[in-house]
Amino acid sequence: MRRDMTRWMRLAALVGGLLAAGVAAASAEPLAKTLFGHKQLPAATAPAAHGFYSKGCLAGGIAIAVDGPNWQAMRVSRNRRWGHPELVALIERLSREAARDGWPGLLVGDISQPRGGPMLSGHASHQIGLDADIWFTPMPDRRMSVAERESVSAVSMLKPGTLTVDDRKWTPAHAAVLRRAAGYPEVERILVHPGIKKKLCDTVTGDRSWLSKIRPFWGHHYHFHVRIGCPDGSPGCRAQAAPPASDGCGEQLAWWFTEEPWRPAEGPQKPKARDVMTMAALPGACRAVLEAPAPPSEAAVTLAGPEGVPLLAYGGAEPARASVGLPRTDIPVPQPRPADR
Ligand SMILES: [Zn+2]
Repeated sequence: MRRDMTRWMRLAALVGGLLAAGVAAASAEPLAKTLFGHKQLPAATAPAAHGFYSKGCLAGGIAIAVDGPNWQAMRVSRNRRWGHPELVALIERLSREAARDGWPGLLVGDISQPRGGPMLSGHASHQIGLDADIWFTPMPDRRMSVAERESVSAVSMLKPGTLTVDDRKWTPAHAAVLRRAAGYPEVERILVHPGIKKKLCDTVTGDRSWLSKIRPFWGHHYHFHVRIGCPDGSPGCRAQAAPPASDGCGEQLAWWFTEEPWRPAEGPQKPKARDVMTMAALPGACRAVLEAPAPPSEAAVTLAGPEGVPLLAYGGAEPARASVGLPRTDIPVPQPRPADR
């Protein structure tokens, strides 16, 4: 009997402990990156970018197909092929027009998560569906397998360990695809490594006005980062100050070739903003974005070719699949998708 009592007390203590732990867990605010990072499909509402590139979310996002006539999406398992329809349409247009310029096709890297928001890993920005990474590696003339898209490494444009472009890798076609992208009025900025900016500064002749949009930044020697401005219909989107009108080849660029930008931070490292952000840090509209219904399928909100989005009139009828020029893809998307890598 006494032994039974002890058992009961132990059990009660255990249950009490678990309850207390549960309450504590419930009272801790969940991280926004966890909530957004696990969404598989977009919010099926009118497209809108809410907040800022590094602090916000996306409603009414669409995906770019895994394959198009002039592009292939990379790292498909990440499920970051989602963007504001204006950005996704722009990537399709760039792929087509760059192909006419002689670029064999785009390898499309990360855009955004289905509903945007902070990511479980990687980028600080890419949160509102207006940022896209495009590899400097041209598309091969064959369709890559799922496994290759996960594992193939991008090629750095730099000489190893330097801030200088490797002329064996850099070609006039690389400059041309950047010029093409910078020429679109929707594009406000293109982030590239300072070494690449320098290369353009040293070599671009004729019209140099587009160089103002080419902005030096850390990283970005494997891919360039296209950023469009706030689209119409996004009153909650916070614009970024326009870059200075100059070509940016003077003093601003010189700073990148000093020690300062590359000096390791002193003292204890602060956690990255995206790693601590809760919903309270994001625009209020992002709660509704999280809770909004999903579209009936990914295919219904995937742009496959130049004919435009196979739209699912959001909140309306089934999409007119017949209007889409290409099958979306016959590449199986891995399920379940790993949350991230
Ligand atoms: Zn980027």
